[in-house]
Amino acid sequence: MDRNLDTFDVCIVGGSIAGNYLCYLLSKTNLKIIVVEEHKEVGLPFQCAGIVSQKLSKLIELPNEIILNRVKTAKIVGPSGAYIKLSGNEEPYIIDRIGLDRLFFNKVKQRENIVYNFGEKFKTFKYIWANHQKLVLIETSKRKLKAKMLIGCDGPLSSVAKALRIKNKNLFATQVRIKAQFDENEAVMFFDKRWKELFGWIVPEGKGIYRIGMACSKNIVKNFRFFLNKFNINLKQIIDKQGGLIPHGLMNKLAFDNILLVGDSACQVKPTTGGGIIMLLIAAKYAANCIKTCFKHNKYSKKTIKKYYEKPCRSIIGRELKIHYLIRVFLDKFEDNDFQKMFQIIKTSEIESSISIHGDMDFPKAIIFKLLQNPLFFTFLIKFILKNPNIFIKILKILTK
Ligand SMILES: Cc1cc2nc3c(=O)[nH]c(=O)nc-3n(C[C@H](O)[C@H](O)[C@H](O)COP(=O)(O)OP(=O)(O)OC[C@H]3O[C@@H](n4cnc5c(N)ncnc54)[C@H](O)[C@@H]3O)c2cc1C
Repeated sequence: MDRNLDTFDVCIVGGSIAGNYLCYLLSKTNLKIIVVEEHKEVGLPFQCAGIVSQKLSKLIELPNEIILNRVKTAKIVGPSGAYIKLSGNEEPYIIDRIGLDRLFFNKVKQRENIVYNFGEKFKTFKYIWANHQKLVLIETSKRKLKAKMLIGCDGPLSSVAKALRIKNKNLFATQVRIKAQFDENEAVMFFDKRWKELFGWIVPEGKGIYRIGMACSKNIVKNFRFFLNKFNINLKQIIDKQGGLIPHGLMNKLAFDNILLVGDSACQVKPTTGGGIIMLLIAAKYAANCIKTCFKHNKYSKKTIKKYYEKPCRSIIGRELKIHYLIRVFLDKFEDNDFQKMFQIIKTSEIESSISIHGDMDFPKAIIFKLLQNPLFFTFLIKFILKNPNIFIKILKILTK
């Protein structure tokens, strides 16, 4: 074996929010950590609508300058233009996403046990044995290095996941930031068959700037042009444009010998909204605990990682992500009149106040149980399932996965 090969305890691939936050959580250990990031700067390219629930400030110490705005109302617009407005306890943050990515990087960059290699791409890995211990030999675009643990935080197109033969299904997303005059207190979601896998959005960044975007599985350019035309947007108003991918589906396998996946690489994204930040922050906390336990016991097997990372992740966020996915299965099949009927039920029953009190952008289980107790909503759902019998098979498949 090459004795000059750089050796680390942990190699994190991806220096965005998942990688930086995990690195921060591990920074106070004496583990020798390398973060390999293919871009030259943290936070760029910027690819986010930046709408995150209030849970953010419970999960991390959130500096005020990261919060650009807060919204009081979520307006949900159906294909015909019919809409409902929901407001309640949840007043999501609109965040400075570049700032959030840099927050944790800035906290760890001076630490002696941490190295960031920018402009370096993870290519592949193989397992090797040294002193009767299984290690990971990592090949990047610039070098080879050894680590006891490899962590894939490398986003929707994760090369770490690919090397483990896991492939995400991704949606295409696009967004512009513009100066405009919409409502600064309101985030709007536009549903339409053409972009049925997610929605079009208007998110008020504050100071008269809005993030207008969309995600779907095909024809994103054509659909987005059509969407922007709805608002008579003058292209001169556009400040900048972003594009990216959003994983779509159920959470992947998370645990492998010496390796674990966190964030978009593991599809820890809500299929209802495409939001991943809250879920990955929770997952990163479990990942950090698991990594510390692995080093404490000098055990890095899939079994150990499953026990300390995958299992708690599945029971805390995995189940909720499944509920998001079930909601998405229904929304995908909704026709315009289904949206209209649902809006009418919400407006004329107690549901609106239930959503205000029990609604949770990230953990929908409680509100779903509440809604199912409402006879009007329950009847609407049963009729919808009878009209779309295939949905029943899909639900069973998801529940048994
Ligand atoms: C347009 C858009 C809008 C969104 N809006 C919201 C929102 O409003 N709220 C919300 O919660 N979420 C939103 N999301 C989702 C959210 O941005 C992601 O869930 C989150 O960024 C995932 O973080 P991550 O660290 O797992 O992956 P990423 O942020 O994708 O970071 C992956 C990092 O890995 C690096 N990398 C990739 N491959 C390699 C490699 N081979 N070698 C080295 N480095 C590599 C990349 O350069 C990148 O820095 C949005 C996503 C998009 C695209």
